Amino acid sequence: MRALRAPIAFDGERFLPGGATVIVEGAVITGVEPAAYGLPDDCPVTVFAGTMLPGLFDTHVHLVSDSSVGSLERAGSLDAEAVDDTIVRSLRRQAASGVTTVRDLGDVGYRTLGFRDPPRPGLPRIRAAGPPLTVPDGHCHYLGGVVRGPDAIRAAVRDHEQHGVDLVKVMASGGMTTVGTDPFGVQFDAAELRKLVYAAHGVGLPVLAHAHSLAGMRHALAAGVDGIEHFTGLTETGIRVPDDLLDGVAEAGVAVDPTLGFDRGLLASMPAPPQALAASLKRVGLDLETAQAARLGVLRRARARGIRLVTGVDAGAAPAKPHGIVGLALAALTEGGFSIADAVTSATAAAARACDLAGVTGRLAPGLDADILLVDGNLEADVTALQRPVQVLIRGNPVTP
Ligand SMILES: [Zn+2]
Repeated sequence: MRALRAPIAFDGERFLPGGATVIVEGAVITGVEPAAYGLPDDCPVTVFAGTMLPGLFDTHVHLVSDSSVGSLERAGSLDAEAVDDTIVRSLRRQAASGVTTVRDLGDVGYRTLGFRDPPRPGLPRIRAAGPPLTVPDGHCHYLGGVVRGPDAIRAAVRDHEQHGVDLVKVMASGGMTTVGTDPFGVQFDAAELRKLVYAAHGVGLPVLAHAHSLAGMRHALAAGVDGIEHFTGLTETGIRVPDDLLDGVAEAGVAVDPTLGFDRGLLASMPAPPQALAASLKRVGLDLETAQAARLGVLRRARARGIRLVTGVDAGAAPAKPHGIVGLALAALTEGGFSIADAVTSATAAAARACDLAGVTGRLAPGLDADILLVDGNLEADVTALQRPVQVLIRGNPVTP
């Protein structure tokens, strides 16, 4: 038995007045008590000056990609050893930043599953989708998940299930990082998308749809997906997400993962935003900052309807999206008017629910895994405290950077 104590504590849903003492036995939290709680004499206690919170989720990562230019595309042609090497480096960066669970939405050759079972000490827990399903020459076709027609869709879902994935990811629109695909258009017709969701649900697998276009978001919602990634709302006249779509998303309980975070410093050091992304935004008269502002407006309207929000970065996929910046995505939410508690909930308790891990992690609560993050500073007043991790525990194991 040992204890951690901090004057500021966030339990996954709210700040605990006066901080907390968290008691850990082995890999599990056995008590969450007030900061002044009297511990037995033989219980070692570590006292921190900053904020204690559950380890974070990044609900949209590509472990096989290290965010260098073209790295996601390259992953498709690397040998298994090189892919595994990248996965370990990605997981280490996530862990060092305070992320204790990642949801991988773009694997190649099911390599990430080897790191999910058994979990490696000191590395984040993994939820894995395997290779994303896409159309011939479609978004991320190079990751190996290309299907053509209903029979191939059913066979691919079966193959994913037999490999033991936790969920299925499908590309319902083109993407910024795959030249030749159209982020404003759709991939798969509505009937195909419905068949895919039906097949996956039939074997107990949730489905997440990548959708930048408003048309793709409509398709995904109508097909009955469980979550929509990006949720950008691209149309030929700019970013538009009508009320009826938001109402439908709220009513269906679909989780939205806006993949907001990017590292402005890295962006500034690049000669220009990645070509496909810049071209997409320019086509409708937007740049990165105006697009971000428009998207935050959409998310405020989503929040007003009680839409479930989770926070992933799309880490690894693009040069301004390295692994380990989920704190920046949460900061972006607060810039858009979300409270710090709402923002951090989207990467802790709400993320755990969306990943079907609410009984395992995502909160400081007795019985859950001891996935704990300590950061320097008062997170309740300053979201940038997330940029200053001082201690990370994964299942009670300290992370070694
Ligand atoms: Zn992605």
